Amino acid sequence: MALECSLDALRNLDQSDLDAVQALLDACTRTLLSPSLWLWALGLTAACAAIGALLGLAKGRWLWGLVWGAALGPLGWIVVLLSAAADRPCPECARLNPPGRKRCRHCGVDLAVAAARSSRSRLRDSTRSNEWR
Ligand SMILES: [Zn+2]
Repeated sequence: MALECSLDALRNLDQSDLDAVQALLDACTRTLLSPSLWLWALGLTAACAAIGALLGLAKGRWLWGLVWGAALGPLGWIVVLLSAAADRPCPECARLNPPGRKRCRHCGVDLAVAAARSSRSRLRDSTRSNEWR
């Protein structure tokens, strides 16, 4: 007899019949231990984590997005979307600035201009002016 683990089977279970109770318990245990169920759960978790990582990447915090996506799925995506972006390091002094700032709050350099300059041109500048930066 192939008993199926369902709410109907549970509702119609005769609790005085111990064999029937054991058969339903076995059927439900088989369902919960089914490899295809676990593959679905793991695949869904991996997909939610990947989407969370992509959303976090846009904020400069991919690992943070991955963890929230894996832990809470679509709710974690909302957490990531509502969160503030990560602070960005200044190309000149390497100290962190909040996103959206035009000038570094530590050394005062224009962040867009400094980011557009290559590291090679910074090196050339520092050798010309003969000073440490
Ligand atoms: Zn700076």
